[in-house]
Amino acid sequence: MSGLEIRDLRANVDDKEILQGVNLTIELGSVHALMGPNGSGKSTLAYTLMGHPNYKVTGGEVIFDGVNVLELSPDERSHLGLFLAFQYPVAIPGVTVANFLRTALNSHQKAIDPESKGISIPDFRKLLKEKMDLLQMDHSFAGRYLNDGFSGGEKKRAEILQMATLEPKISIMDETDSGLDIDALRNVAEGVQALRGPNFGALVITHYQRILNYINPDFVHILFEGRIVESGGPEMAHKLEERGYDWIREKHGAKLAA
Ligand code: ADP
Ligand code: MG
Repeated sequence: MSGLEIRDLRANVDDKEILQGVNLTIELGSVHALMGPNGSGKSTLAYTLMGHPNYKVTGGEVIFDGVNVLELSPDERSHLGLFLAFQYPVAIPGVTVANFLRTALNSHQKAIDPESKGISIPDFRKLLKEKMDLLQMDHSFAGRYLNDGFSGGEKKRAEILQMATLEPKISIMDETDSGLDIDALRNVAEGVQALRGPNFGALVITHYQRILNYINPDFVHILFEGRIVESGGPEMAHKLEERGYDWIREKHGAKLAA
């Protein structure tokens, strides 16, 4: 199996168990949507997978490429091909989008080959132009300071550009759609669609079904109280759009409380 395998993952925040045994396999070539009510643990899962220090793993395992990801630092996870697009990207005034991306790319190349001198500036410019064209972005975007004064939509597009440049094998997108107008949403979705292929797997985390109209996911899972309680195809997202999350609470809330 090539992909990310999450087995019975348990994690605490502030000594409170938030992830209560998550099981999920994201095979390369497949796009999974993860939905669920606010507070169900979606962001906790994303941060735990990337190794954020506030999220303490108390059980289970995460295997990628035959490697136990939980033993790696966030850097090493990234070098292995995992990518996290944040719900709230941070601004880095003074560092341009281009510089940031080149540093990230060079760091990846050095991790693979310590002798690597990194990508040359002309090669990098060419690559960046290609990626910006793919995402239909204005080239002036590369010269702006990362996320500094960016609109919500621009921040999300910067995340997608980072993803397109680093070419991760598995990408985890935490509510990349939140707060976006319909045009920005479509851009983000097109960015994901452009990367879709046999060597790319994604976990698209969202509270709303809207983005899934543009990214038709192969699978849809519902996280509730730290566990995946329902899994299905794209029809699951439509069911949520029609019925909201109440039926999930009714069906699974009592069972978990008992
Ligand atoms: P979701 O992304 O599904 O809305 P979260 O993973 O953000 O859910 O939150 C799940 C639970 O964990 C909530 O009860 C939230 O209050 C708690 N939690 C998450 N992150 C933190 C944190 N950094 N500090 C304290 N509590 C947190
Ligand atoms: Mg969240």
